[in-house]
Amino acid sequence: MAIEELYNYYLGNSQISTDTRNITPGCIFFALKGDNFNANEFAVQAIEKGASYSIVDEVAHSINERCLLVDDVLTTLQDLARHHRMQLNIPVVGLTGSNGKTTSKELINAVLSERFKTFATFGNLNNHIGVPLSILAIKSDVEIAVIEMGANHQKEIEFLCSIVQPTHGIITNVGMAHLEGFGGFEGVKKGKAELYAYLKVANGYVFINRDNAFLMEMCASKHLNKLIYYGSENGNTIKGTLKTSDPFIEIDWTNHEESTSVKTNLTGSYNFENILSAICIGDFFDLSPAEINCGLANYVPKNNRSQLTKTEHNTVICDFYNANPSSMSAAIDNISVLTADKKIVILGDMFELGDESEAQHRLIAMQAVKSDPEKIILIGNSFYLFKDDFNAIFFKTPAEAVTYLQQNPIKDHLILLKGSRGMKLENLLQYL
Ligand code: ATP
Ligand code: MG
Repeated sequence: MAIEELYNYYLGNSQISTDTRNITPGCIFFALKGDNFNANEFAVQAIEKGASYSIVDEVAHSINERCLLVDDVLTTLQDLARHHRMQLNIPVVGLTGSNGKTTSKELINAVLSERFKTFATFGNLNNHIGVPLSILAIKSDVEIAVIEMGANHQKEIEFLCSIVQPTHGIITNVGMAHLEGFGGFEGVKKGKAELYAYLKVANGYVFINRDNAFLMEMCASKHLNKLIYYGSENGNTIKGTLKTSDPFIEIDWTNHEESTSVKTNLTGSYNFENILSAICIGDFFDLSPAEINCGLANYVPKNNRSQLTKTEHNTVICDFYNANPSSMSAAIDNISVLTADKKIVILGDMFELGDESEAQHRLIAMQAVKSDPEKIILIGNSFYLFKDDFNAIFFKTPAEAVTYLQQNPIKDHLILLKGSRGMKLENLLQYL
């Protein structure tokens, strides 16, 4: 089936579903395959539940006339998204980076929505399925879109850019994340720079943190000319100074016509650069400093990223959405500068580090010890390797940590809770 033909079905009803639990009346169901499932088997069920069409790639499941047979469902979803993007004549800000993509995306959206009808990636839908779904969720009245693109191997950003077709782009930073798939830190830089390469060819704008030498080097190698700088020095379009991050971030900033300051609801000094990027993009799209500050001040994180939460007995920095060596290190630095009499650091294993896993866990454990909190609790098999080397409490599993917390309740502490998604450290929160 030709994409144009499918696009006609889509235009009649712009809802797309890939999950039979979320069928909306008249939606198009894409029967994707995964390692452990084959949604072709649910194609008819999706129609019975109200989908207008199911897109399948197995002849055996195309008997129903509303099951439309294609060569490959995933490729069709991606092609449809690419086709939709081409019909949208709007600026699209594409984001990638090792850390801070979702936070920056939310902040940029919070700022731009002060003036424009915006669309931003829902949650963290940033991969080869999530990105096309995000693009297909952009309605015709949207004026600017902000799309997060994640990657854990080479050529992934290049491919996602072919769908997103960003007109503006930003790499938040490059760090020690997904080292396994990218092949080390040099591989991370190469993979992320695919966004710069795309924007060079597309003649798009790049927003860049001039304080970040790695980004500057990556950008120089692509010979970009439409560059908008932000950072802490003079000479940037947006210059910012971190006033405090204890416990929430306040920034003084200027666009050289006006100087102002903003109080945010984010903790973690590493968020300084995320906030500055949102200011820079807001300023580029002609929002006034007052509008920008309003968008930033009203943004309250609710997504377990840099979220300061008061429990019954303690204050917890809920940062357990994910973790890698760079973000772990930034989070430990952050708790060590916050004002509190008694601090506890609870860390879970970091995944996807390949050969570097042991060394990186050792470095993080060392940094935690150096930061000198009252107590350090390290959870997971990777940290457990060092149980005899550091003055910390070690558990192989979160369940063992829960038993410990039940027997040794913590009160009146500031606690950092951070680990990879798979560690599910949110299960500890009710015991803190
Ligand atoms: P993912 O790869 O899961 O999509 P992401 O890049 O979207 O992650 P966020 O979800 O915004 O990143 O943030 C995840 C964590 O990364 C935060 O909770 C924080 O600990 C850390 N982080 C955020 N911004 C930065 C930054 N600029 N530098 C270092 N660490 C950061
Ligand atoms: Mg994200």
